[in-house]
Amino acid sequence: MGSRAYNGFAIYSPTQDDESPRRLTLMGELRQAIDRGQFMLYHQPKIDIASGRVIGSEALIRWYHGRDGFIPPEEFVGLAERTRMIRPLTLWVLEHAFNDCAGLHRLGFDWTVSINLSARDLHDPEFPDLVAGMMARTGIQPDWVMLEITESSIMADPVRVLNVLERIHSMGFHFSIDDFGTGYSSLAYLKKLPVSELKIDKSFVMDMPRSESDGVIVRATVELGHNLGLKVTAEGVEDAESLRILRSIGCDTAQGYYFSKPRPLNEILAWQQSGLWK
Ligand code: C2E
Ligand code: CA
Ligand code: CA
Ligand code: CA
Repeated sequence: MGSRAYNGFAIYSPTQDDESPRRLTLMGELRQAIDRGQFMLYHQPKIDIASGRVIGSEALIRWYHGRDGFIPPEEFVGLAERTRMIRPLTLWVLEHAFNDCAGLHRLGFDWTVSINLSARDLHDPEFPDLVAGMMARTGIQPDWVMLEITESSIMADPVRVLNVLERIHSMGFHFSIDDFGTGYSSLAYLKKLPVSELKIDKSFVMDMPRSESDGVIVRATVELGHNLGLKVTAEGVEDAESLRILRSIGCDTAQGYYFSKPRPLNEILAWQQSGLWK
């Protein structure tokens, strides 16, 4: 038996090249996943650190693939980007996230839904109109939504991306810089972008209680964000000690397994109403 196979199952490793049989199979199946109803949208709560209240959630896509169980988004979102499947995938996410958001507001929740956009979306000159159409169909208000973008997705073609961002911003949507601190770019772009939030990458947050340098980075990022007039969210909050440090630093919002893993929205609401995280 080869080292890559065990009981007849190929063991996937992310270092395999693009033409691996698993990738080719998934690429084909990705096209049908929407029609087959295999995507689900989970939510992970965002907590206001000062008050302890749930102020919203990040929507995270899940692909329940019959044969292979759950396929992680890090595996298929990139595939979708390379195969022009990203537009239908993002539209599926927008439709479901906007509908969830509309439902929450109908129930009286003051709740912001954060949605991840991919680099391809930001380079697509038709994307702002697609967002506008989805907003009209679902009846959401743009200030109920936070759109998460990464530094690297901006840097590929900043002029083109800025145009797309400004058109969406002018409709009233807010943007957040996701995975902040992991990009290689200069900080100069920050003041040019219509951004309202920095989201500190979990790699800095998770080890804060044990790593002095991570604590220094998180503190400096919170200060930078606040000095630019931005809200700062820490993701990857896994324990009470991290939360305590973030509170002492003055970080605005927290998200992580300490509060809840991403789960179906009805489970998040049940958890929120139980008040168990307090
Ligand atoms: P991300 O946007 O940085 O999302 C945060 C990831 O960290 C999520 O993984 C979440 O489950 C995980 N996470 C949350 N709290 C903790 C924690 O306390 N500890 C640890 N170790 N991890 C935590 P997930 O859901 O597997 O998503 C992975 C990535 O896939 C996302 O990273 C995002 O880049 C992408 N993604 C997910 N959903 C979508 C989507 O709807 N559209 C697009 N374009 N990308 C998506
Ligand atoms: Ca995100
Ligand atoms: Ca992130
Ligand atoms: Ca990430």
